[in-house]
Amino acid sequence: MSLAKPVHVAPRPVAPLEQVIGAERYQRLVEAADQFRTAMAGRTVWNVSSTAVGGGVAEMLQVLMGYVADLGIACRWMVITGDAEFFVITKRLHNELHGDASGGLLTASDAGHYARMLAANAVELLTYIQPGDLVLLHDPQTAGLTEYLSQIGADVAWRSHIGVDWHNDATDAAWSFLLPNLQAAKGFVFSRREYVPPELPADKVAIIPPSIDPFSPKNQQLDVDTVRHVLATIGLLDGITPREPAAFIRRDGATGHVSRQADITADNRPGPDDPLVVQLSRWDNLKDMCGVMRGFSDYVAPYCDAYLVLAGPAVEGVADDPEGAAVFGECLLEWRSLPPPVRSRILLVTLPLDDTDENAAMVNALQRHATVIVQKSLAEGFGLTVAEGMWKGRPVVGSAVGGIIDQITPGTGILLPDPRDLPAFGSAVRLLLEDRDGADRMGQAAQAHITRDYVGDAHLLRYEKLFTGMADGPLSSSRGC
Ligand code: UDP
Repeated sequence: MSLAKPVHVAPRPVAPLEQVIGAERYQRLVEAADQFRTAMAGRTVWNVSSTAVGGGVAEMLQVLMGYVADLGIACRWMVITGDAEFFVITKRLHNELHGDASGGLLTASDAGHYARMLAANAVELLTYIQPGDLVLLHDPQTAGLTEYLSQIGADVAWRSHIGVDWHNDATDAAWSFLLPNLQAAKGFVFSRREYVPPELPADKVAIIPPSIDPFSPKNQQLDVDTVRHVLATIGLLDGITPREPAAFIRRDGATGHVSRQADITADNRPGPDDPLVVQLSRWDNLKDMCGVMRGFSDYVAPYCDAYLVLAGPAVEGVADDPEGAAVFGECLLEWRSLPPPVRSRILLVTLPLDDTDENAAMVNALQRHATVIVQKSLAEGFGLTVAEGMWKGRPVVGSAVGGIIDQITPGTGILLPDPRDLPAFGSAVRLLLEDRDGADRMGQAAQAHITRDYVGDAHLLRYEKLFTGMADGPLSSSRGC
């Protein structure tokens, strides 16, 4: 029997957000929260997901639920469990939603197992969730709970955090699997409109992109000195002697220190004032780390003295990501084959994951130190690294794919129409390296844009609108799609 379990999230003071979003916006958030709390009249908002740690969804929920708790709204989080077969099925669903059916299409027997696992989880969930409560189910793992929760009179919305803006046999198969499970849902949430399958009624769909937390270890303000010391400590910057370990604020408010080293493949290290081009992502073919290396070595390095850092999480020992090690290995081979003068300005960096807050502080320092941030993905769901770089006031060159298109608006960065066009990639990067004033202006516009649209209050207000519509509006009388 699989059992769903509650996750405890400590309240996160919402008041500091005011210094980021300004008094007017902060007031709007507090007033909306007051009205929502009254309208809820004792009901609870539930989030149901399949993991409490690791991954963007869990990270976002930790932050948003913390704020919601501080705003006095009853909001709780349950995590479902399942056996290994269940997670193989849901991973295949995840891949299919990205258009990849290489694991084989799901069968009726898979659908049966999926349904049984969720039925078992529902038994436990129904001891917590009450009629009239609002429930937000996250991702394909939870879709099969919709019917059980709706039957008792809860208002259920389902959110897909993933998607592609085209369809093929694999995406069609995933939606054929999921849609029957979602019949009773009163709302659907996607990060981009292009990800919404045509079968869903438009009036039940809300578009809610992800958000970043300005105070998390990954995004909190770090001064230049701290940034340089973090990068010297991990072994990336030359010419600085790390003194005591650089400090940052952990998610729980405690002080943390960066003391671990990164694993760095390099002939040379940049000094603190050398221009740095950075792409930071998972080692995944769709992030095209090797393409960035080729674009840099052929179209950037010969024209300037910049360095390139390709950084991602440590790959060894990550049992569930065999692709990561393979992609890193390809980059390593390609790096070894480069002519020494170019190779000496390219660093392959893997960041330790032993302490996720410390890893995030390393990411933060790297993004803040970058002269130019690139995200030359071949495909992208949302692309949080873009928002993170823009939030830090950095000029970003990003591929015109997926959520990157929404994030980089005119003047806030450079969109590459064709991510495989390496000369165009090189020109965009060189433009920003050569015109520092223009790059600074772009960075400032980027930061303002992210502050306006992608900070937590905007995210919470979009949820408030969704839930208010579901509880009081036309959605409450609808009988599903
Ligand atoms: N990231 C990280 N440590 C690393 C490399 C990446 O924490 O060593 C983070 C990165 O900062 C971002 C997330 O992983 O928050 C990647 O999210 P994104 O949406 O860019 O891509 P995904 O990996 O979800 O495809």
